[in-house]
Amino acid sequence: MIKPSLGYNAAMSTTTNPGLHLLGATREDLLAFMAKRGYKSAHAFSLFKAIHRGHLLDFTHLDSLPLTLRQHLASDFPCSPPKVLHTHTATDGTQKYLIALNDGSAIETVFIPEPSRGTLCVSSQVGCALNCDFCATGKQGFSRNLTAAEIIAQIWIATREHTITNVVFMGMGEPLLNLEHVIPAISILLDDCAYNLSKYTVTVSTAGLIPQMQQLAQQTEVSLALSLHAPNDLLRTQLMPINKKYPLLELMAVCKNYFKHPKRKILFEYILIDGVNDTDALAHELAQLLTDVPAKINLIPFNPIAHSGYQRSTDARIKVFQTILRDHGFKTFVRKTRGPLIDAACGQLKGDFIEKTKRRA
Ligand code: SAH
Repeated sequence: MIKPSLGYNAAMSTTTNPGLHLLGATREDLLAFMAKRGYKSAHAFSLFKAIHRGHLLDFTHLDSLPLTLRQHLASDFPCSPPKVLHTHTATDGTQKYLIALNDGSAIETVFIPEPSRGTLCVSSQVGCALNCDFCATGKQGFSRNLTAAEIIAQIWIATREHTITNVVFMGMGEPLLNLEHVIPAISILLDDCAYNLSKYTVTVSTAGLIPQMQQLAQQTEVSLALSLHAPNDLLRTQLMPINKKYPLLELMAVCKNYFKHPKRKILFEYILIDGVNDTDALAHELAQLLTDVPAKINLIPFNPIAHSGYQRSTDARIKVFQTILRDHGFKTFVRKTRGPLIDAACGQLKGDFIEKTKRRA
């Protein structure tokens, strides 16, 4: 149930690199565009499929569209495919793309192959304003929101080389601070004429912004991951300044009723940092906090970043922490670290940009 909040004007009107802006147009945007210019709705479907399934942004030879429409598109939306500056592939097959944006900054996107699926970890902002203490993106500050086109460009690029079965908004940025563009991007990801993903295989990860979580739940049914990292306010605020604004009691109240379907669960992410948040007592406290919350837990071994002073918990400690949570009855997994040598693991994405805005948290 997606209700795109953008009309085609908002999605397609910016003058810089208009070819890119077609990438962010939802099916509804294109239908409105065609109707306004007197073209058939079938042409909107052809165009939408050509862009996302056919990887086309130059429609000169797309004979299924009338010549006048092709000329119209060529003049209003000249072709300009997104540009990949670099790709790095790790020995485990994880591939990191550095993608150029029009303003000279760059963002990172990571493809993670697994035997039964291909996951793409996408960025939603250039930088991040939340300044979490353990995250390389946060340490760089914030520049701007990505447009829907810039979000979709990431999957458009990756699907040329890989089969993508899952998309996670766990790259650079806080997706819930960019719902204006994340919601139409989700609509394109789920559209069966585009990437045809399901609400179960698209996951938005958030640091826990309460009003925006409520808005997201109203507008889409995609999966939700919540970065928790501590079971009490004192420690969580130290690690994640946003916790001051949205403390745990209020956050858990929203989580309890987030999904209407009784079987759906929120994925709680918990980074394990040596001696900081990985004791037995904190594992029990976490279990206590999540009592009555439909939860599954993903433990993430901390990925080292420069100047943080934090270390990864030992494997033995991670195992004990996991066992305690399992004994409390929670489905608990340990996330396998992928692509660390190419700095493609969680929290290591930095991109390349100039900070423009003061952090907001
Ligand atoms: N802002 C969103 C999404 C981006 S971060 C959020 O907070 O969820 C995606 C995941 O990577 C989050 O769970 C985040 O806490 C985690 N992460 C950040 N830095 C990390 C690090 N150094 N090691 C391991 N995981 C990290």
